[in-house]
Amino acid sequence: MKLHTVILTTSLVIGGMGLTYAQENAKHEDTEFYTPVPKVVTPGKLSGEAPSDAIILFNGKNLSQWVMADDRSVPAKWKVADGILTVDKKTGNIETKQSFNNYQLHLEWRIPANISGEGQLRGNSGLFLASIGKGDLGYELQILDSYNNKTYTNGMAGSIYKQTTPLFNAAKQPGEWQTYDVMWTAPTFNADSTVKTPARVTVLFNGVLVQNNFELKGPTQYVGQPGYRQAHGASPVKLQAHGDKSEPVSFRNIWIREL
Ligand code: MG
Repeated sequence: MKLHTVILTTSLVIGGMGLTYAQENAKHEDTEFYTPVPKVVTPGKLSGEAPSDAIILFNGKNLSQWVMADDRSVPAKWKVADGILTVDKKTGNIETKQSFNNYQLHLEWRIPANISGEGQLRGNSGLFLASIGKGDLGYELQILDSYNNKTYTNGMAGSIYKQTTPLFNAAKQPGEWQTYDVMWTAPTFNADSTVKTPARVTVLFNGVLVQNNFELKGPTQYVGQPGYRQAHGASPVKLQAHGDKSEPVSFRNIWIREL
């Protein structure tokens, strides 16, 4: 893995966050915001049925489209039962075999009804819109229980983690299925690896617009300021096995349309 870093170190962050960037002298609090708190919106009923030209990434039967993110030669090891995919935290993140540039993606996720923990340690997973390396390297759309669960607003469900707060809080109760519909425009890079056009994302959370063509500052940065430090092309989509001790998140009905 090539990292174009000057002032950066790559480190293993405690708490199972996995491999990510960390900046010297930076503090967590520098990039965690608590106000304003997004207004609560109760979602309506939705159908997430795949259109005719979608690539089905998970159809409830198997993980044939997925591999372990930290060793792409290994088939994805998470649990599939009763049409549902559930994170296996012991195994690590999984990502798609196929790589994508710009796309429309649909994904359904569920926080367990018996969820425990609080803040970032309560049903934490994530959809990495482009996986650009092992661990948590990539651009994370946060998955978390955000129904009556306080945390920094740019770390709640519907946030681009540590970059931007969702416009609204459209979270459903633990135990209910929730949807993400994502329109992703991948970043482009110049020949010298500097960013040419930043990534952009629009996100519907349970049918409610929570990110409106947001321009990303770079890949997710756990500590410190994000920036485009690594040129990349088409990339897999990745799901996070977060190392917290709360009950694991489940998924169903995942499809993608290349644009
Ligand atoms: Mg996460």
